[in-house]
Amino acid sequence: MSTSAPITQDVLTIPRKLPEGPTNIVGLTRPQLREALIAAGTPEKQAKMRVNQIWQWVYHWGVRSFDEMTNLAKAYRATLAEHFVIVIPEVVSRTVSTDGTRKYLVRIAGGHEVEVVYIPETDRGTLCISSQVGCTLTCSFCHTGTQKLVRNLTAGEIVGEWPEPGEGTGENGPRLLSNVVLMGMGEPLYNFENVRDAMKIAMDGEGISLSRRRITLSTSGVVPEIARTAEEIGCMLAVSFHATTDEVRNTLVPINKRWPIADLLDALRAYPKLSNSERITFEYVMLKGVNDSDADARRLVKLIKGIPAKINLIPFNEWPGAPYERSDWTRIEAFADIIYNAGYASPIRTPRGEDIMAACGQLKSATERARKSRAQIAQEIASG
Ligand code: SAH
Ligand code: SF4
Repeated sequence: MSTSAPITQDVLTIPRKLPEGPTNIVGLTRPQLREALIAAGTPEKQAKMRVNQIWQWVYHWGVRSFDEMTNLAKAYRATLAEHFVIVIPEVVSRTVSTDGTRKYLVRIAGGHEVEVVYIPETDRGTLCISSQVGCTLTCSFCHTGTQKLVRNLTAGEIVGEWPEPGEGTGENGPRLLSNVVLMGMGEPLYNFENVRDAMKIAMDGEGISLSRRRITLSTSGVVPEIARTAEEIGCMLAVSFHATTDEVRNTLVPINKRWPIADLLDALRAYPKLSNSERITFEYVMLKGVNDSDADARRLVKLIKGIPAKINLIPFNEWPGAPYERSDWTRIEAFADIIYNAGYASPIRTPRGEDIMAACGQLKSATERARKSRAQIAQEIASG
């Protein structure tokens, strides 16, 4: 059964003429694929069935060539091959952490690179995907935010971050992929349409078939897009909260100057009802002496009163040149206790993949890292 949305008005914006050069099937929503097939000569009456067939081949069976689509006539396969391609980004390197976390470097068009992190756990496997190359926001504790080069990923590139069927089989057996978090590089709500389309593809019951409750989108607080996220994606929401006063949040998450805490909380309050999801995850990075006092914990509890919430405490992950330190373990535990005693779950996130720079906020394209270190070397030389 298909869980994809009925054809919506976005179809109207797509001309029935194929663009120059072959169109990539990966990343087209069902309505977009239908229109593209019709533009390529598929009779309208057959279009729905063809969409279903091609969809299953691409997303359920992982087929990458039209020749393998054996329930389509040979002539039709040839027509498809003339107008379309099935391409996903190339994985250029795989790094495995001592704790089993894997980091994939994926190359997308234009030679850009994004990092995808897979976190295996006993009862589940989480894929942490990126929505942009770099990030236009400049949260002061985040490595990604220091990357200059930024471009939005297309819906196809976002879906392309999923491992190929069969990937990872071998001595450890096939890996379980049960959850997806949009917590890699970039601010997903600054690339709303592409993220939405990619998630619709992932949630489609005839393909990747991921439940919307197993997708968590993390935002730094792009308030005007939060209601739309509930209505058009309906996934779980996480918010990079990180501070309990506007003064401190302005320095940590500068988007707060545009949409301050009170506005953000209003949007969050409305989210569970709009999206019919249970609770919001508040992410809170623990920075020594900056946001980790008992008073902060008590303020946090007061601020979120009435919002069904879980507070995820993230020990700060260091990166070269970072201006902060991780809070002491006893401090993190004391902070967690105050929140827990107020009735909220307050798990402390175990840092994963730190040795391969795959932990939260450590991601940054390798090319960019190389560029930066060259610049740093040049600077060192210049300053004698
Ligand atoms: N741009 C989105 C999603 C990506 S960041 C957002 O900001 O929500 C995923 C999470 O990692 C966010 O909560 C972010 O604040 C956090 N993070 C960033 N840098 C970090 C660091 N150095 N240590 C720990 N967490 C970090
Ligand atoms: Fe961008 Fe999120 Fe990093 Fe802030 S924390 S700079 S929004 S990726």
